[in-house]
Amino acid sequence: MFGLLCQQLWWDNLVCTKGYEGSIEKERRIVKESRYYTPKENNRVACHLCPRECVINESKAGICRGRVNHGGKLYAQTYGECSSVAMDPIEKKPLYHFYPGSQILSIGTTGCNLKCQFCQNWHISQESVSTHQVSPEDIVKYAKKYNAIGVAYTYNEPFIWYEYVLDTAKMIKQEGLKNVLVTNGYVNEQPLLELLPYIDALNIDVKSIEDGFYQEICGGVRLNPVLNTIKLSKKNGCWVELTNLVIPTLNDSPLQINNLINWISEEIGDSVPLHFSRYFPNYKMNLPPTPLATLEQIYHQSLQRLKYVYIGNACEINGDNTCCPMCNRIVIKRKGYGISQYNLKDGRCGWCNSEINGQWEKYMETDK
Ligand code: SF4
Repeated sequence: MFGLLCQQLWWDNLVCTKGYEGSIEKERRIVKESRYYTPKENNRVACHLCPRECVINESKAGICRGRVNHGGKLYAQTYGECSSVAMDPIEKKPLYHFYPGSQILSIGTTGCNLKCQFCQNWHISQESVSTHQVSPEDIVKYAKKYNAIGVAYTYNEPFIWYEYVLDTAKMIKQEGLKNVLVTNGYVNEQPLLELLPYIDALNIDVKSIEDGFYQEICGGVRLNPVLNTIKLSKKNGCWVELTNLVIPTLNDSPLQINNLINWISEEIGDSVPLHFSRYFPNYKMNLPPTPLATLEQIYHQSLQRLKYVYIGNACEINGDNTCCPMCNRIVIKRKGYGISQYNLKDGRCGWCNSEINGQWEKYMETDK
């Protein structure tokens, strides 16, 4: 899971290298008290980090598996426990309007507060895998050493190792680097508002615009907190892009897509990029992959209301390029996660000079 970059970290002595089950590692583990909980009777605690609001008995963990009650106090069990560390193109998050062409140090832990039947990362979100302790200071060192634009908290749900993300994001911000969250958006308002001042950009999953989908397919959660996270992130000045995994028969009807694009356009604006992603069978779901024709139809339907629409996980469809909403010509042509043509100048279309919404300067132009 760690791969080449983690090996490099190892060589650099930036990482504690003992396995998850190892006794030495356990001694070195940093265990932090959770910031959002209240004690209850009989040594139980109530966690207030996400809308699940788990009430946790002594020696037990919350639904996300990242928060554990020890002696009537709640601890962030996965603080600094990285399951994955890699340098990724920013396009992989996906963020297409945020310093395109740059590399970002990407980290994740284990566990998740949702239980999506179609989870594409279920090995780390729902199972136990080995982890390595990496301090926030080491994440900063590594991001600087390898010229990353900053750090993306990704792979599994970042809010469930909230204290670590907060500590690391503060240090990264101090260094003038960027913080990016790739999240399901299922978090309570107070912790979200504490973290947002340090966050530059988010890609937030909207798994469906229907509450019943979240309740039935994602493990008994609700839609509204996700929509609230999207609105608050935008309101607080973060760059926001959205992702919707299109699953045949479950969230792909023209009516549902219409409701989704209407909500985006009316509540947060038509300049928010929307990434539709092709579903493939995974974890507990064995429906067939999303038909390409469905994705093409959704792409054209969404462009009626939104300025920037993309299709991911389907190289057969030409849905990766950024087009100027005014003259309709390609301003960024992508191939995989790379960029083959770039025709933006100071955030404006190189053909007709119209504004293209996003945060563009510096990195891409430096690379040219
Ligand atoms: S963060 Fe985890 S422990 Fe806390 S309420 Fe959510 S699922 Fe439960």
